[in-house]
Amino acid sequence: MDAKKRMDQFRTMFQRIIDPLGYKFSPDTELVDFLLEQEVMLEKEKGSPFCPCQGLKGEREYDMKLVCPCIPFHRDHYDAMKRCWCGLYVHKDVEDPDELVQISKKDFEASRNKC
Ligand code: SF4
Repeated sequence: MDAKKRMDQFRTMFQRIIDPLGYKFSPDTELVDFLLEQEVMLEKEKGSPFCPCQGLKGEREYDMKLVCPCIPFHRDHYDAMKRCWCGLYVHKDVEDPDELVQISKKDFEASRNKC
């Protein structure tokens, strides 16, 4: 199957998963195309559409939590940023993704421990 067709399949499949979670594809269509293309390549190479922005460890349990969309496994963190780590998905009410701030996992955990 060619990459473009697989990207379209990902759009349809992922939309069904992210919609009930309160997310949508980013309005930044260039970024969306780029990331989906990367995921098609990762699927070809590694067997699953792993996250293009997060490193795999080679440990199955850890790595499977980085198969896109990984939102359910990182929900609190991503909800705090209103975006997933890569920015492929944003909260439904986000109109300008450039206004969102990326918070490292470490900083997010630290801010939670203060509460
Ligand atoms: S951070 Fe975003 S693009 Fe990366 S796997 Fe998770 S949901 Fe997909």
